[in-house]
Amino acid sequence: MENQNQNQNQNENNNKNENQNQNENQNENNNKNQNENQNEDLYELRKDYFFERYVIVSTERERRPLPNKRRIIRTETKNNKKIDEECVFCVGNEHLTSKETYRLEDQNDPKKWKIRIVLNKYPAIKTIENTKEDQNGIVYTTKKPIGTHEVIIETTDHSQQIDEFSVDQMEELVHVYCLRLKELYEPKEVKYVSLFKNAGPGSGASQPHAHSQIVSMNLIPPIIKEKMDAFEKHPNGYVQVVEQEKNSQRFCYGNDSFVLITPFASFYRCQALILPITKIPSMIELTKPQKRDLADVLVQAYQGLRDLQTPYNVIFHNAPKNCKNFHFHVDIIPRMSSFAGFEYGTGFSISSFIPEVAAQYFRKKDEK
Ligand SMILES: [Zn+2]
Repeated sequence: MENQNQNQNQNENNNKNENQNQNENQNENNNKNQNENQNEDLYELRKDYFFERYVIVSTERERRPLPNKRRIIRTETKNNKKIDEECVFCVGNEHLTSKETYRLEDQNDPKKWKIRIVLNKYPAIKTIENTKEDQNGIVYTTKKPIGTHEVIIETTDHSQQIDEFSVDQMEELVHVYCLRLKELYEPKEVKYVSLFKNAGPGSGASQPHAHSQIVSMNLIPPIIKEKMDAFEKHPNGYVQVVEQEKNSQRFCYGNDSFVLITPFASFYRCQALILPITKIPSMIELTKPQKRDLADVLVQAYQGLRDLQTPYNVIFHNAPKNCKNFHFHVDIIPRMSSFAGFEYGTGFSISSFIPEVAAQYFRKKDEK
């Protein structure tokens, strides 16, 4: 009798799940229908997967089917030369950079390098001995800064941008990222290490030679705190997102370990997101095949950015020290949004270019 009840309950639960799935599919289909009908304007408030952050999707504000290509970054490198005498990141000018902290040697010629890491000449964070201790006042609070800011020179070729990297070349870069992240987390004072790439005018990049940056610090940044709180409430958060989004119109590309999507409530125009299929707190924990898969999906993401012809920021969000409840993910932010009074005054973003359409930029050419 008890078994029968259990079975009944099980069946009811199954039915409930089925209904739920049907409803979800229904919603998805409604979205699809709305989006497929390009002539009909879409207006809705979309919430981020986990954060209390809304985007006002209003296609009425812009009736263009594709973003205009107004800012091109490929013209930046001079004359397509492999070496530029004036560039501090170029081969031959190694003496012009600050102290080198890591070098990936060329196996064919140990005198040559493939990737170099150097201290940033103008660091955002640096450790200064003998500065005053932390001060906690009612109005004025200061903290002793501890950390380092380094530049990762990604290629010896001045004219090569990251969107031209092969999967092999990207895999080497991912390997170096992981290695340096691990090392920079070692000092006991360090709580967080930020890894990111700026490219193009207005993105924060001051050098056209392909590079990324890594910054260690004795503070957990507010954005990371917000993410930690969200993952506390949703421990399988991004795993569930992958489950839903892999069959959506926002899915762009995927392999055994990662997917590339345009987020449902994209805060920035043509934003994209790389998520691992299983929960991985930090890049440091990636296995060799997973590093290869990340390189593969990054190559696809950068090719999408090349098609958009816009400056951009790519941010690798990793777990702070000793935080297991975190989902490693990569935010890809083309600098195409123009924020004004409403956005700065409310914290809302207005999106006139829906992620379902933006996804076409990040798909393989023959699938667009
Ligand atoms: Zn250069």
